[in-house]
Amino acid sequence: MKRSTDVKDYIRTIVDFPHEGILFRDVTTLFADPRGFRMAIDQMLHPFAGERIDKVVGLEARGFILGGAIAHQLSLGFVPIRKKGKLPGTTISEEYKLEYGEAIVEIHDDAIQPGEKVLVVDDLLATGGTAEAGIKLIERLGGEIVACSFIVDLPELGGRAKLEKMGMNVSLLCE
Ligand code: 5GP
Repeated sequence: MKRSTDVKDYIRTIVDFPHEGILFRDVTTLFADPRGFRMAIDQMLHPFAGERIDKVVGLEARGFILGGAIAHQLSLGFVPIRKKGKLPGTTISEEYKLEYGEAIVEIHDDAIQPGEKVLVVDDLLATGGTAEAGIKLIERLGGEIVACSFIVDLPELGGRAKLEKMGMNVSLLCE
């Protein structure tokens, strides 16, 4: 168990994962540390103290771990946005570009009511493609996004700029 108060100190970098040349930020070491995990949740919540939020939406898969803990802390419901074919009920979907090819994400069509205030959660912001697709799904259901909250930003990939251009409030803990 570490004693640092900087979330960055709990995240390790894995070289050449999932492909050669990629430096993968591995947050499982943060999640596995009792102080680190609690601190990350507290720090993600901090900017939204006193704000109205009705639902927490997590992006598959690490956004489920963070979003579940945040929703529990706020006594709110949690909604997953999942990769195509995983949700059992009626869904709406959005396609987005990956480095190689495309991906599709889905949300249950009754998971968010028009006018609900939503906090979007994931572990890491890279190009912003995943979050952008999630935002579109939430907005198609009439949800109003309070903010998108991530632990790690990879600023050179432009995700923050992309989301801010869409009018999003973006909250990040470290680079
Ligand atoms: P984006 O769509 O912004 O390009 O990529 C962000 C998505 O890919 C997030 O769902 C995130 O979990 C995942 N991701 C991409 N690179 C990394 C990484 O280095 N570490 C972790 N933990 N997730 C990553």
